[in-house]
Amino acid sequence: MNELTLKPLPYADDALEPTISARTISFHYGKHHAGYVNTLKGLIAGTKYEGLSLEEIVAASRTAGDTAVFNNAAQAWNHDFYWSSLAPDGKGGKPSAELLAAIDTAFGSLDACKAALADAAVKRFGSGWAWLVAKDGKLVVESTANAETPFGLAGVKPLFVVDVWEHAYYRDWQNQRAAYAKAVVEKHLDWSAAARRFAG
Ligand code: MN
Repeated sequence: MNELTLKPLPYADDALEPTISARTISFHYGKHHAGYVNTLKGLIAGTKYEGLSLEEIVAASRTAGDTAVFNNAAQAWNHDFYWSSLAPDGKGGKPSAELLAAIDTAFGSLDACKAALADAAVKRFGSGWAWLVAKDGKLVVESTANAETPFGLAGVKPLFVVDVWEHAYYRDWQNQRAAYAKAVVEKHLDWSAAARRFAG
């Protein structure tokens, strides 16, 4: 038996409208995210990964080079993190003084940090993720391809992530990834959560 389950969404399925519609959530969370969890359960049944936590499976499969297990485990983790990176418009709070100081050092201003994140979301070619991470305490915006994740890398602490796979925005924004990224970055980033992660 393993304990991998699809975690509940941290808000109602229409809480991010109109940026992310309930219909997008129904497919993105209910089909894509759930699919990664279910595929992972099938892949690890009867293997050395069975019974490990999701975080342990990401780490162990990365080390072992088990691509299928890693891809599905990392996607399950990335989606949990994506949902918890977002908040309804007006509910995302503000960066703590500590986080804001690190943002100013790295980017010059909060607006410049947001612009860098939106830019990384747009420039990621194909499917992937745009991240704000702390690397040895210094903030960096970066993007990863497909399932790749900075989670678990030495010295790296992800603060939040934007999903830029087409399934994240195509029903609501069609080909306008830049408009989706701008709306998410401007309205839906959970700065309170990022501040807790930065301090933790
Ligand atoms: Mn996704």
